[in-house]
Amino acid sequence: LEKVPSDIEIARAQTPKDVAELADEIGLLPSEVDMYGKKKAKVSLSVLQRLASQQDGRYVVVAGITPTPLGEGKSTTTIGLAQALGAHLKKNVFACVRQPSQGPTFGIKGGAAGGGYSQVIPMDEFNLHLTGDIHAITAANNLLAAQIDARMFHESTQTDQALYNRLVPKLKTGREFSKIQLNRLKKLGIVETNPDKLTEEEITKFVRLNIDPSTITWQRVLDTNDRFLRKITIGQSPTEKDKTRECQFDISVASEIMAVLALTTSLADMRERLGKMVVASDTSGNPVTAEDLGASGALTVLMKDAIRPNLMQTLEGTPVFVHAGPFANIAHGNSSILADKIALKLVGSDGVVVTEAGFGADIGMEKFFNIKCRYSGLVPNAVVLVATVRALKMHGGGPTVSPGVPLPAAYTDENLELVEKGFSNLGKQIENGRLFGVPVVVAINAFASDTEAELGLIKKLALEAGASDAVICSHWAKGGSGAVQLAEAVAKASSQPSDFKFLYDLKLPIEDKIRTIAQKIYGADDVEIKPEAQEQINRYRKQGFNDLPICMAKTHLSLTSDPSLKGAPKGFTIPVRDVRASVGAGFLYPLIGTMSTMPGLPTRPCIYDIDLDLQTEEVLGLF
Ligand code: ADP
Repeated sequence: LEKVPSDIEIARAQTPKDVAELADEIGLLPSEVDMYGKKKAKVSLSVLQRLASQQDGRYVVVAGITPTPLGEGKSTTTIGLAQALGAHLKKNVFACVRQPSQGPTFGIKGGAAGGGYSQVIPMDEFNLHLTGDIHAITAANNLLAAQIDARMFHESTQTDQALYNRLVPKLKTGREFSKIQLNRLKKLGIVETNPDKLTEEEITKFVRLNIDPSTITWQRVLDTNDRFLRKITIGQSPTEKDKTRECQFDISVASEIMAVLALTTSLADMRERLGKMVVASDTSGNPVTAEDLGASGALTVLMKDAIRPNLMQTLEGTPVFVHAGPFANIAHGNSSILADKIALKLVGSDGVVVTEAGFGADIGMEKFFNIKCRYSGLVPNAVVLVATVRALKMHGGGPTVSPGVPLPAAYTDENLELVEKGFSNLGKQIENGRLFGVPVVVAINAFASDTEAELGLIKKLALEAGASDAVICSHWAKGGSGAVQLAEAVAKASSQPSDFKFLYDLKLPIEDKIRTIAQKIYGADDVEIKPEAQEQINRYRKQGFNDLPICMAKTHLSLTSDPSLKGAPKGFTIPVRDVRASVGAGFLYPLIGTMSTMPGLPTRPCIYDIDLDLQTEEVLGLF
């Protein structure tokens, strides 16, 4: 492989075509596209109605082996494959990827637009702000947080009647309930809808949410890696009359609103999901929702533009949707259902949509199938599993690596033994894909230091393990032309009839659903459900949430709960510490170990490298 310039140098060397031209090329009507400058546009959901009778294209998900610090190249492969299918095989194609959080962009990971000659451009706009969707999530999330504390404050300082007079004011035309307030009356079983005729008891029921502060699960968010916000005390001003409370900030992409955005299927569905989000329990143990706080409409208003997918392009001019980017542990880590649905219509029956799942196949792909496909109703046609020689070497027992230190020789010199040992991880992930009845194509993402023998060994072992094909590709160094064979293999695999099935039935008890994932996907002997987790499970069952799908919050660095265990370990148990619910998004998430929802900055964050060329206004130092 030849020397390849830096990601930002490559991205900048290519001028993107005008997004209006791209929109026209892919069959969008001018009325369906809102330009955000010349390189990005938002696409209207009305495309789904216009093309309702159009048959969907083939649906392909890109997943990977268990991640290592060496990077596997899932995003790069998603883009490279789309470039190969589009610019080289001349198929209608769309890549659907997640919008990255600015936390990691300025922290440790850098950008997420792919890499080398397989990137989304302009990569600086992709990585920073985009069209403001994450900012909208931050605004909506924090509006709800503010409403929770304000409501508790007002309930604690006012009588029932004073609260009622403020919530349902006496105007010249008389008192009137708003639509949301009428919904609340219905929920409380109050049939009287004339505000002047409610009994005292009904007024008390209506005005008091009685939020138990110790049960609040709704946190404030910010899209910055700011570790000092992991625990904070709010309400310290005397104006809040000693109503201090310990809480925390999460990073914006960990907000349930991000998961709602990714899983919603229409504007009406989004409003309903936002309203169903549970923020706390009341003092009698009933869930308190965003709808109870009167916020569903306001949250929908803040999210009304964010719901529309963002159109961008690859280095080779193929269309890309960048939309939603939920956490892959406490949420499901996949881009939006709406982007995939619109893309599947736009490519038509002969086309292909390539969508990416975060983390390893045991997490991102499992959640893609069991959560995302369940809510979208879409049937996937193939999985692409990305693996690299160096990452498999680490799974085979290769030495740990440190940032800023050259890679040990085990990774740069030929070592077939380590590759063969580490293959156990790829082998297990191939099995995982096949468990869902979907053909698996292995993409071996070649690095400059890989040898023919190492690459060939992975190919041979992958085919023996049941992959329908395994292809060595060089799209990072060569762009789409380096992934033509991969594209051919994917086109072939995805044109077979799909045998897709879910791993578990939603009606199973929560414990059994968790056990099924642990045993079948991770290869665990069993799960150990700790007492607090059992208590939560019992509570959710009582509250009517048993039938939600499961979103395991497990380390992405191992098939087990211990990030240091590589390969495909056997004879282990998965401890379930606690179980939480994202009722609006629509899943329960068991906590396997502690999950940080607010990353920190390393000693030398990417901040040091990022700058602006003051003459050209070009962003420097992003990678
Ligand atoms: P993932 O999606 O699995 O996290 P990315 O596609 O974002 O991985 O790639 C991680 C990093 O590795 C990027 O900086 C990318 O440019 C680099 N990379 C990917 N593939 C290759 C390759 N074949 N050779 C060299 N660098 C690569």
